Amino acid sequence: MTRELPCPSCGQLVMCRVSADKELSEQEEKELALSVCSCPAGKRRRAEQAQIAEAQDNINMLCGEGAEENNMTPIENQDVHNILNKGAELVAKGEIFDLTMKVSGGGTVKISTGPKGQIKVKRTVGFSEQLEANQKI
Ligand SMILES: [Zn+2]
Repeated sequence: MTRELPCPSCGQLVMCRVSADKELSEQEEKELALSVCSCPAGKRRRAEQAQIAEAQDNINMLCGEGAEENNMTPIENQDVHNILNKGAELVAKGEIFDLTMKVSGGGTVKISTGPKGQIKVKRTVGFSEQLEANQKI
């Protein structure tokens, strides 16, 4: 179903797709409206989400299913992936500047930002591989 919700940035009502059986908190409603609104803040939010998604794909390429293509062993522990994925989000939002994790038997994974606003994911296991998600605006 759809609902009209006000964008927290520009105030205009925007059509949002919502699940009928899940009640959204006020914060979730604001997030949802902003993520679909056509105003500059909405565009920035979507760009940020796209960059986070690319950075998380890169984490998967270096630490998850894609690791073997880079001659690295996938990190099995899902909690480690959860922290890395959350780290990419916090780095993208500027809440933290970087996150470095020394993984038991899995080398070092570092998530950081570059001078052009890109999010860098680097894994070192004797040798290093680095992938970057560029800023979308
Ligand atoms: Zn808006």
